[in-house]
Amino acid sequence: MKIQIISPGVYTYGSMVLGGILRDRGHSVDISKDLRRDGDVIILSLFSTLQLLDPSIREFVSKAESPVYCGGPVGICPEMVLGELDVDAVAMGEGESIIAMLVENGPEGIPGVAYRKDGKIIRSEPSGVDVIDHAMPLFPSDLPAQSVRGANVYIETHRGCLGGCTFCQVPRFFGRNIRSRSLENIVAEVRELKRMGVKRVAVSGGTASLFGYRNSLNKDAFISMLRELSVILGKRNLSVPDMRVDLVDDEILEAIRECTIGWLFFGFESGSDRMLKLMRKGVTVRDNMRAVELARSHGVKVGGSFIVGYPGESREDFEQTLDFMEEAMLDDVFVSIAEPIPGTPLARVALDTPSEDNPLFCEHSGAFRALKISEAEARCFEMMLHGESCKPVPRAISEALYSTYLNEARSQGEDIRKVYGLLNKYSEFV
Ligand code: SF4
Repeated sequence: MKIQIISPGVYTYGSMVLGGILRDRGHSVDISKDLRRDGDVIILSLFSTLQLLDPSIREFVSKAESPVYCGGPVGICPEMVLGELDVDAVAMGEGESIIAMLVENGPEGIPGVAYRKDGKIIRSEPSGVDVIDHAMPLFPSDLPAQSVRGANVYIETHRGCLGGCTFCQVPRFFGRNIRSRSLENIVAEVRELKRMGVKRVAVSGGTASLFGYRNSLNKDAFISMLRELSVILGKRNLSVPDMRVDLVDDEILEAIRECTIGWLFFGFESGSDRMLKLMRKGVTVRDNMRAVELARSHGVKVGGSFIVGYPGESREDFEQTLDFMEEAMLDDVFVSIAEPIPGTPLARVALDTPSEDNPLFCEHSGAFRALKISEAEARCFEMMLHGESCKPVPRAISEALYSTYLNEARSQGEDIRKVYGLLNKYSEFV
């Protein structure tokens, strides 16, 4: 069978894994970032709620003559996917155990699939995948040219997270039980990536040091994995970007300094303990600062991500975050307006919060009022500017940088209001 996998905009790891499974079943598989209709079956891999509203994706699906099956993180709310896109079925969980059956026999009787029949949505719960070692993914030939936050590709080493952060899809999609791949399976994949010209590889999985976790951290497994991958790729090409502040220690940080580009990104989210509690981060501002100091003491550079405009965030909470940034002097900063992803606890919080308590729907009346933006956008913008002035070597704010950050804050605000629109439309399912 001729199968076209489409991963719009970026080759997601999941789409390449599915491609490898189908290739090994003897199908002729092509994977593309562009919307192409060549295939007896089309698999559409979507990672963001906003992609459901993308006019080009909607038109593509409506005109497709072959069956279109949709998968990826959006599958957590299949009613929303089926309501917005004219696809034939949605894979609701981890797709590798069902993809061959779905493609070869259609959706009926398969676990973890939702589809329409006689005007009704039929859905069956996903059965889960115990062993996550998999066939060699189908890596497209232009993968070496891709750049996602500086890496050509993010590879998966494990699934699941112990955390329960309200805004995050990882524990809801993959669960809180950690399942790791074998080191051999990962190493074989990284060798293949190197052979085909991929240089920069990032290890993903929510929190990298959970690799090998079984009732407790398995630091030896994590450190051995870094050492092996570093020998193959060279330390300048290996990164371990995302880490929880309470899952690093001296040995882990030393291995990160020794075997990788020597950078970490912590999800700090806020400088207010009240907000961290609302977000169920499971750590405090003091824990966050301790992790910065510990990483620095090992010569590891630290970037951090922050969330602003969380429902109920007050100006005081926001100012505490600015203070934290000033004290932490981070090497890099990412700021996002809280996005209520369907299937997360934040989606319910967002629906239940009156507009007047939600910074995304309140007009900003402070220093940036002339810009006519929402309070959440103003905080996002101010925090991005602040992040620059708090770097170890502060960057001057040029007119171009000012406009870039302002546009970024505005566009985040607009996009997330669209997500709220979808949440309201499908409120009984999120
Ligand atoms: S620690 Fe990271 S991956 Fe885990 S739930 Fe929180 S945000 Fe998600």
